[in-house]
Amino acid sequence: MSFYITRQHPYWQNQGEEIPFYSVEISKGIDGAGPDMLISKYPFEGEKLLDPHEVIQNVIKIAGAWKKDMRAGKAKRGRIQIVIGSPGISGMEATDSVGKIELQSWADKVSETLPRCALHNDVIDIGDRDVVFDRDSEEYFCCENAYSLEMERREKDLI
Ligand SMILES: [Zn+2]
Repeated sequence: MSFYITRQHPYWQNQGEEIPFYSVEISKGIDGAGPDMLISKYPFEGEKLLDPHEVIQNVIKIAGAWKKDMRAGKAKRGRIQIVIGSPGISGMEATDSVGKIELQSWADKVSETLPRCALHNDVIDIGDRDVVFDRDSEEYFCCENAYSLEMERREKDLI
């Protein structure tokens, strides 16, 4: 599973609004992103991210940088909200504007469900061709090298 951060100018929320309404959106997969996406401007926007904690750090940075640009007159002024998921996308609930506490609890909750490398403990993408699944232990490894290292270590521990 991977996540994407996009900036959106949601058509459905801008009907009759005088001040533009924008959002920084977390979606599951690029295909799950809302259709009213703006062109990527800030770091990590539109990039594939695996770790939900990395996602929320960057969402907060992007929203902050965008607000700063608005105040400096470098971006069109408007209201910015942070949303998780997008309307009509299944699997992730579309939410109203979320704050830092909700973002943190979302990341904690999602993080527990994600496969991790049994050696490095970082979140891995099981769709990645380098990933090794060990049928005996039912564990994932980020690559063949990590798998070999861990298996060697375990064999030594047995002696
Ligand atoms: Zn690893």
